[in-house]
Formats: sequence, C-alpha cells, structure tokens
Amino acid sequence: MFYIQECKIQNLAREYCKIFAAETRVIENFGPSLEVIPVYLMYRPANAVPYATVETDLTGVYQKFSDLDYTGRIDMRTGSEVEQKCCTLQHWIFQWTNGNLLFTRLEGVDTKITGVGISVKSTGHQGLSIEANPKVFEQFVSQHKCNYFCGLLGLRSLKVMDSLLTPAKPKSSRSPLLQRKMAAGSSSPQTGRKAAGSPRLSRKTEQEGSKMPTKQKAADAPKTIKMA
Ligand SMILES: [Zn+2]
Repeated sequence: MFYIQECKIQNLAREYCKIFAAETRVIENFGPSLEVIPVYLMYRPANAVPYATVETDLTGVYQKFSDLDYTGRIDMRTGSEVEQKCCTLQHWIFQWTNGNLLFTRLEGVDTKITGVGISVKSTGHQGLSIEANPKVFEQFVSQHKCNYFCGLLGLRSLKVMDSLLTPAKPKSSRSPLLQRKMAAGSSSPQTGRKAAGSPRLSRKTEQEGSKMPTKQKAADAPKTIKMA
C-alpha cells in the first residue's frame, strides 16, 4: 500500500506543480519553471511485493532541495536558483491550499522534481492517509523567507497570512497598540506625507486582486484530475 500512497502523493504534487508552472510561465523573468515528474504504479502479481513504482531516469546531479530533518523541521536549501524556486513552490502551495498542504520533501535533477513528500495540517486532507503534522506548518510560517521568485509571483507575506488564518492568536493583541501609535502620529505633518504614499500600497493590492481571475481559472484543473 505504501507504493500506492507514494504514487498518489507525487502525482498530486505533479498536478499542483503544473498550475504553479502555468502561473510562472507568464512571468517574463521567472525563467525555467519546476516540473514534478510522473510516477507510475506497476502491479506484479507474481512478486512478493506486488507493487512497484516506475519513473523516468533523471540524468545529471541528483540533489535534495528540501526535506524534514530529525526534529520535524523543514531543512530547506536556498543557494541555487532551483532551490529558491522550490522555496517559492512551498510558499505557493501553502497559499494555494490555505495553509493546509506543504511539499516538505523535494529532490531531483535541475528543475525536474521527484521523491516528493508532503505534510498536511489535518488528517484526511485530500483523502490522503497521512498523519497530520500541524507543527511543520507553524514552523514554515516563521521559517520561510520570501525570495526574488516569491516576489515575482506576488505571493502574500506568510506573517500576514498567519494572522488572517488564526485571528484568535495573541499576536493580534499588538494591533490596538499599533493603531493607537498610528493615531497619535497622524497629527504630525510628516506622517501625513507618509500616508500620502499609501496609494502605492492600494495599487499593489489592486494588482494582486487582478491576478485572482487567472487563479480561479487554474483552480479548475485539480477537479478534472479527480475525475480522471
Ligand atoms: Zn515566499
């Protein structure tokens, strides 16, 4: 049964990665995107272990881009361009699934990814029979540092997302104080001028908003996969 699960996970990751790749393709400076290669399940009834997985041979230097370390924390490499894109893919999948799914193990050759391991926030997510690992999600939020490629995709800051997802967190107790500070500062002309800069901010959110239709279109893709 392990093989079936392994196939399911990697092929799920592959479909998500296709959506990711479609989004990156329209960004001029993103360069080559990532591809999770397919894994096929082979049934061998005469064998003691009747299932085997088959995938294409990747030629080149096989690298680990990300994995869970012995403490259950994501050990992420951020040196090369591909490693940074893997970080961005993690951020992207986190945002796409509203913080319910993470690719915790990513390996492969150049932009071809295999050996995918995932973590889910709650058991039973996507019908996968893997144990929930909510700790890794908290760690990811505090651990992930947005890079150039996160910026190109316009991914939302994880710190902001975290406070949106869990409004009951004690973190939010800070905001009244901030508001008071802002209110106090607004009397001075300097902050008034600073506030005039805010249209830039609102324009930014507009841009983010305008991206939504394409995301919604792409959201159709997993549905068709389920049917297949
Ligand atoms: Zn990021």
